[in-house]
Amino acid sequence: MKALMFSDEPKNIKEMLTYFSNDMEVTAISVEDALVKKYGAEKIYFYKDGFSDNISNAIQKLVDLIKPDYIFISSTILGREIAGILSSKLNEQCISEIFSFKLGKMATTKRYLYGGKTVLEEESNCKLFTVSPGLAEAVETNNESKSENLTLEPTKYRLIERKEKKSGDSDIAEAKIIVSIGRGVGSKENIDKIMPLVNMLNAKLAGSRPVCLDYKWLTEDQQIGLSGKKVRPDIYIALGISGQIQHIAGIRGAKTIIAINKDESAPIFEECDYGIVGDLFKIVPALVDKINN
Ligand SMILES: Cc1cc2nc3c(=O)[nH]c(=O)nc-3n(C[C@H](O)[C@H](O)[C@H](O)COP(=O)(O)OP(=O)(O)OC[C@H]3O[C@@H](n4cnc5c(N)ncnc54)[C@H](O)[C@@H]3O)c2cc1C
Repeated sequence: MKALMFSDEPKNIKEMLTYFSNDMEVTAISVEDALVKKYGAEKIYFYKDGFSDNISNAIQKLVDLIKPDYIFISSTILGREIAGILSSKLNEQCISEIFSFKLGKMATTKRYLYGGKTVLEEESNCKLFTVSPGLAEAVETNNESKSENLTLEPTKYRLIERKEKKSGDSDIAEAKIIVSIGRGVGSKENIDKIMPLVNMLNAKLAGSRPVCLDYKWLTEDQQIGLSGKKVRPDIYIALGISGQIQHIAGIRGAKTIIAINKDESAPIFEECDYGIVGDLFKIVPALVDKINN
């Protein structure tokens, strides 16, 4: 089986290569990042400064050349745009946001429905898929992929300005321990009361959507969830987070979830491995004391 895959995020392509390259011969298209060569692709085409029009044209040409059985596009903003264009160009139906793919007579895929409350498992003859970030833990191989620079055609787009995002703890996607805060923390100033725990555990600080987007106590790139980052830490500590499905969609890959919430009926207690019912401002200092001793 042959697969062709694309991502403009090196982290996502490493995960996708780890996940797919055992069962398939993979050709990948990625932004330039030499490290991507260690994750099992047969060949990688590196591109620079592409847009959805010239990247999708390049992918279409590679489809004609390689004749892949499957095409996997990472579900980033650019990736989703490219998948739509490819679906039309190749006349292929696209199944979006898959987080599981099994080969058989037909392909069996899984994706979340209703913001992560339900899993939809489908069998299909589709060959085009967008793939959710956080698919697998990326694992390096001993081999190095062949690589080639991909020359893109001129684009119809004109880049007017590139602004760096204001970033906070931007590497939360790679973090082993995450302390995540919700509206229950009450104010930006109260975050200082959480920091001893964050620092002691050498953790990364993240938050729910209201905390990152509405109140801006944290930055946008620290948001976890359906419309934020999907993370896979060893330990995820949720402080004052109710556990709505849109938040849970971001932490399904976490190995251990610990929740502290004063409301014993909060939905987070249905999702966590360890739950403490109580006031986080009493429990966090007690935890810090306990770990100190
Ligand atoms: C399309 C869409 C996409 C979304 N995407 C995301 C997303 O990516 N990420 C995300 O997080 N949300 C997302 N949301 C929003 C989501 O539905 C919830 O509104 C949000 O997750 C709630 O955030 P929260 O848990 O911080 O706040 P709340 O739901 O208000 O929960 C606060 C919790 O804190 C507890 N609490 C209060 N004080 C204390 C205390 N002193 N000690 C202990 N506990 C205390 C309360 O009991 C409560 O359970 C999305 C919504 C939509 C519609």
